[in-house]
Formats: sequence, C-alpha cells, structure tokens
Amino acid sequence: MNRRQTIPAELRYTIQQFNEHYPTENACLETIKERRFPGGVTHCEKCGEERKHHRVSGRTAYACDRCGNHIFPLAGTIFEKTTTKLRLWFYAMYLMSSTRCGISAKQIQRETGVTYKTAWRMFKQIRILLSEDVKLEGSSIEMDEMYYGGIRKGQSGRPMRGDKKKSPVIGMVERSTPERAGRVKALATPDVTTNQVLGLVREYVLPESTVFTDEYPIYDRLGARVKEHKRINHSAKVYVVADVHTNTMEGFWSLVKRGIGGVYHSVSQKYLQTYLDEYSYRYNRRDCGNLIFHDVLAKAAQPLGEKRDSEAHQTTDEISVPF
Ligand SMILES: [Zn+2]
Repeated sequence: MNRRQTIPAELRYTIQQFNEHYPTENACLETIKERRFPGGVTHCEKCGEERKHHRVSGRTAYACDRCGNHIFPLAGTIFEKTTTKLRLWFYAMYLMSSTRCGISAKQIQRETGVTYKTAWRMFKQIRILLSEDVKLEGSSIEMDEMYYGGIRKGQSGRPMRGDKKKSPVIGMVERSTPERAGRVKALATPDVTTNQVLGLVREYVLPESTVFTDEYPIYDRLGARVKEHKRINHSAKVYVVADVHTNTMEGFWSLVKRGIGGVYHSVSQKYLQTYLDEYSYRYNRRDCGNLIFHDVLAKAAQPLGEKRDSEAHQTTDEISVPF
C-alpha cells in the first residue's frame, strides 16, 4: 500500500512540495529561525538594543552586526547539538506525518543511509513532541483497556493472573459527532485497577458524559463519576446492543497493534507511552491528512524546556531492534 495515495488530494502535502520548500540545510535553519524570531533576529541581548544580525557561515548561528554576539535558533529544541542534517530531521517528521500506521527507523535507514541508531534517536526525539494534554469533551465516551506484549490470555481475553509481561494500556475516546471527529487519550499504566480507572475518568472525562465500557469489574464504580455508565457483556459474545459498544476504542487499539506489530515489531515497556502518543496524535488529526507535518514542524521549532532534560541521558541500549 502506498501511504501517500491514501490521503485525499486537498489534504496532501506532497514530497515534491516538501522538496521545494526545504531544498537545503539553509532553508531548514531559516524556517526554524523565522518561527522563533519572526521577521529575523533583530534584538541583541548584549548590546541591549535593536541590531541587525547576519548568518555565521558554517554554523547554525546568527551574529550581531555590531558586537558579534551569537544567537542559536536551535538551542533548546530537539535539534540542539545534533550532528544529523536538519533536512533529514525534516524528512523524518514528514514521513511520520504521512502515515497512519507509523514508520520504522529501519525504513528511514534504508531510504537515507543514516545509521539505525541515528534514525531511532530521531524518531524518539520527534515522538517527544507528539505528547499532548487532551481533555475529552464529548458527551459519549468509550473506555477500554488493552494489553501490549507477550501475554497469556485467560478466557475473558484478559491476561492471566500473575503474568508479568503484560503492559496494560487504558484508553478513552470520544464518539465522533457530525461536527467533530472524536479524540482519543491512551495511557500506559502500571496496573489495571478500579482506582486507576476512576483517576483517569476524573482527569480526562467530564462528569456530564455517558461512558461505555464492557463488563470487566474494574469499571464497576464508574457510574458514580459520570452521568451514565452503559456496559456491554463481551463474555457472553455480545458486542453491540443499540449504542452500547466499545467499537471506536477497539478500532484505535487495532490501529496501534497493527502499527506497533507491523512497523516497530517490538516496543519496550519504557517507551510504550511515546508510541501511544504518536498514534493518538495522528488519530486526533486524522481529518488533516499529512498537513499535520506543519504542526509537527511548529512544535519542533519550540524549545522543549524540562521535558527534554529527563530524556537527554537516555541511551539506545533499550532499543528493541526489529527484524
Ligand atoms: Zn550586539
């Protein structure tokens, strides 16, 4: 399947357009500079006044015409200190924006010739940008859990007691209305308990919502938190009764499982949340085609702040190498 053909023409940002807009390292740097300093770098902190700045050749810096003080537009962004070409970063963001099912580090390695480690690190950094604080506002919310990883399933499809390999994920999704496509929030959780469920509902779901779940006991006390709690009895092989179902949530799970299974092959528990964030980010913008590239680029041009520091010292030791 050609991922580019799946996007309607009016929502498509083509690779030709990409190549025209970002033909060189310089064009990429200028783009980030313009986003951080609209109209160019005009203020010199050292001189304490408006001063013209010029590009320093061979460096990702702009210097004050008077005192020579350097400004680094990449400082604090995911590109800071990178030895990988900016254009490759942009291309990686483009690829990530242009597929529903995700893209593997292996694929960009094959396409561009960077090492697997470089490709993996780029994707990891880009994924940091895709984490977002979504509050669900729909009147109808489906809630469900899935288990990622090598698990043994009991009769209910849930992991057997004491299975340590499972990585539970709890998800909530708004049902779409004619006005708006429903959005999803998915969280990797250490365990799946009533308290987890209640905590997540308090944080992400409005009290006036109706919440749909199956009959699993962790959802037992949900009714006290929301307007209405409707349940479907999956163990009796009943999947849809009128509007009572969790099919929207299950659709998202299958997208994630197909993606992680087919593209990433194996995701360590530590990074599972960042993959969920990536899938949620695209899902929540599924009506935007790959125009979301511009959105990802805008985020990439912003300094990351503390978020980055906690990630900065991670190594690639924990990569689950596919294939
Ligand atoms: Zn100056």
